[in-house]
Amino acid sequence: MFNAASPAQLDQALSRHGISLKKSLGQNFLIDENILKKIIEASGAQKGSIFLEIGPGAGALTQKLCGAGAHVVAVEIDRALIPLLHEALQGMDAKVICQDILKTDLDALYESELKRPFKVCANLPYYITSPVIFLLLGSGLPILSMTFMVQAEVARRMAAERGKDYSPFSIAVQYHAEVRQIARVAPTCFMPRPDVASAIIRLDMRKEKTVRVSDEKLFFALVRQSFAMRRKTLVNNLSAGDWGLGKPEWEQFLAACGIGPSVRAEEIMIKDFANLSNMLYKMLNSIQQPLNNA
Ligand code: SAM
Repeated sequence: MFNAASPAQLDQALSRHGISLKKSLGQNFLIDENILKKIIEASGAQKGSIFLEIGPGAGALTQKLCGAGAHVVAVEIDRALIPLLHEALQGMDAKVICQDILKTDLDALYESELKRPFKVCANLPYYITSPVIFLLLGSGLPILSMTFMVQAEVARRMAAERGKDYSPFSIAVQYHAEVRQIARVAPTCFMPRPDVASAIIRLDMRKEKTVRVSDEKLFFALVRQSFAMRRKTLVNNLSAGDWGLGKPEWEQFLAACGIGPSVRAEEIMIKDFANLSNMLYKMLNSIQQPLNNA
């Protein structure tokens, strides 16, 4: 066994197993004890908790999660790392599964391994940050919270409630979870060092959604269309959508919702998008009703 967060021990273990790290898989391993401690504290790992970890790498985070008393199910894509991980996790309460998280049947993983409400923790490979987050948010599984290391810029985008970092991604994340930025992390905390700063973020899954929407699909379609071209006004973006409404109708509709013609999507809060989509839902249904009845 070796301490995967110690640069010297990690180096030796990598050479012993003949492993060179792969940039293409986002292999920037954590080598900073303080940052690992912060992640573990933020994740709420304790005796009896169950964690899904994505991309255990050499096991730095897995060792600490197990050390806090958690049972960890870790999904790692890189087969070359598996013998190293087995050495790092000897005698610990961890199960390593060699698979691509994006191709994993999460329902089956839940039934066979996790079995009860669980938390997620990961130093995410940056090239798949948003697909992984979308996958987990939409999984319908009993996830309690997710603590991630992500690029600092992505953390800002997840937490933004307006402005230039605000996007359909921010809205999707905030719709499902409460976002907390925990700490900024310098490139020196990783081996090898990434080009950009990172951040620890915690997402607490909402028991009740932050806003009530009549039709989730319509809500997210409206949000995507509103941001279709960032520099355009809301009315211009929405007029280009395929709801069969022209610019004058959208202007009228937005005015009825208290939104002026020069407003852009990045100025509108999630509750306003919910209101817009609920009003649109009502309007589309009242248009379709007579047709359906005809
Ligand atoms: N958890 C380790 C740490 O903090 O030191 C390693 C984190 S490293 C940023 C990301 C890890 O995710 C790598 O081990 C990489 O091989 C793995 N990975 C990349 N793509 C993956 C995928 N699609 N499914 C599962 N693991 C993946």
